[in-house]
Amino acid sequence: MSQVTQSQTTQTTATFRALKCKECGEEYKLEAKHVCEQCFGPLEVSYDYDALRRQVTRETIQAGPNSMWRYRAFLPVATDNPIDVGTGMTPLVKSNRLARRLGLKNLYIKNDAVNMPTLSFKDRVVSVALTRAQELGFSTVSCASTGNLANSTAAIAAYAGLDCCVFIPADLEAGKILGTLVYNPTVMAVKGNYDQVNRLCCEVANTQGWGFVNINLRPYYSEGSKTLGFEVAEQLGWKLPDHIVAPLASGSLFTKIYKGFQEFVKVGLVEDKSVRFSGAQAEGCSPIAQAFKENRDFVTPVKPNTIAKSLAIGNPADAVYAIDVAQKTNGNIESVTDAEIIEGMKLLAETEGIFTETAGGTTIAVLKKLVEAGKIDPDETTVVYITGNGLKTQEAIQGYIGEPLTIEPKLDSFERALERSHTLDRLEWQQVLI
Ligand SMILES: *Cc1c(COP(=O)(O)O)cnc(C)c1O
Repeated sequence: MSQVTQSQTTQTTATFRALKCKECGEEYKLEAKHVCEQCFGPLEVSYDYDALRRQVTRETIQAGPNSMWRYRAFLPVATDNPIDVGTGMTPLVKSNRLARRLGLKNLYIKNDAVNMPTLSFKDRVVSVALTRAQELGFSTVSCASTGNLANSTAAIAAYAGLDCCVFIPADLEAGKILGTLVYNPTVMAVKGNYDQVNRLCCEVANTQGWGFVNINLRPYYSEGSKTLGFEVAEQLGWKLPDHIVAPLASGSLFTKIYKGFQEFVKVGLVEDKSVRFSGAQAEGCSPIAQAFKENRDFVTPVKPNTIAKSLAIGNPADAVYAIDVAQKTNGNIESVTDAEIIEGMKLLAETEGIFTETAGGTTIAVLKKLVEAGKIDPDETTVVYITGNGLKTQEAIQGYIGEPLTIEPKLDSFERALERSHTLDRLEWQQVLI
C-alpha cells in the first residue's frame, strides 16, 4: 500500500486513479484487489480522462516505443520503465486471398500469433500485470492458465527476475507445457479443468500472498488487452473499423477492445463511430454464445470438451459484459465445431500464410459462418483478431494436413512423386489421409 502512494507521488504523469466496481461504482485504492466488498462485482481501473486528453496526442504516441508501451498513459502503471520485451505492435495485415475466398472487400487480420515474447496476445496482459506487480511489491507472480497465460507469465517473469509459479490443467497441449517449463518456473499441473484450476488459485492467492496476474491483479492485467484496440485504430490510420471478430474465453479481451476504442474516442484521438463486436467460441465450450443466442443475461456454466483448450473456460468471469457489448453494438456471438476449427486453421494458413492455434481457427471459422449468414456486410471494414500461434497446438491438426512425399535422393524418384502429386487433386489427398 505504502508503495502505491510512493510511486504515485513521484509520478506526476500517472492517469489511473482508482479501482471502481463495475456493478455498484464503489471505489477502492489501487491495490491488488479484484472484487467489490459491497456487492462482489468485479473491479476495473478508472482514469482521469481530462488529464489524458491534455497529455496525449497522436504525435506523443507515435514518438513512443514501437511496442504496446507507446500507450502507457492509458495503462495502469506509474513507472516510466515498464517491463518492455517488445510486446505489441504486431502486424495488421490487409487480407487478399482470405477476403476473396469469403467474399469480403475490406478484411484485416490483426496477427498476435507473432506477438513477443511467447506468440500470443497474453504477452500484452502479462506485461501490464507484472509491471504493476513490481510496483505493488510482489516478488512472486502466479496465474491460473489455459496455456498461453502460463507461457507469458513464465517468460516475462524470467526477464524481470520475478519468482514464478503457474497452474495449468494437466491435459494441456505438449507445446504449451514445454513452452512454459523452458523458462524454469514452478509448474503445477492440476488434475482437473480450468475452472477447477482457477478455484484452487483463488484459495492459494489468499494464503500465499502472491501476485496472481488474472486473480488479484486482474483489474490491471485485463487493461493490457485494450492495446489490441489502440493498435488497430492507429494502424488503420487513426480510424475505427466497422466490425471486429474476436475469440472469447473469459470474455475479457473482447470487452477491453471495446473499452480501448471508447477511450480513443473520449480523448479525441479518433472520430466516434459505431463498431460492431462479434465474438467466437468453440461449440464444446460455448456458454457465452449459448446465452447470447437465448437472449439471456446470465451464463449457465458448462464442462469444456473441445480442442480449443485456450478458450475452454466453462464459467467465464466477464460473460455478461461481453454479451452486453455484442448486443449494444449490433454484433453476434457464434460457436463452431472442432471440425470447423481445424478447417479454420487450414483456411487461414492456405490463404494468408498465417499458422494460428485452435483459438484462431475458432475465430476464422466464426468469421466464415457470420459472412455466410449475411451477418457481416462485404463492404464493412472488418478486423479479425488472431490471438495465438499454431506451433503450440500441433496435435490439433495432426492427421488433417497431408504428409510429405518421401523420395529417394534421385531425380527420377522426384519426378515420379511429382507426377503422382499432380494426378491426385487436393480433395483426393484429403480422403486418402483422413
Ligand atoms: C486467453 C486467450 C483468449 C481469450 O481471452 P479472454 O480474455 O479470457 O477472453 C483468446 N485467444 C487466446 C489464444 C488465448 O490464449
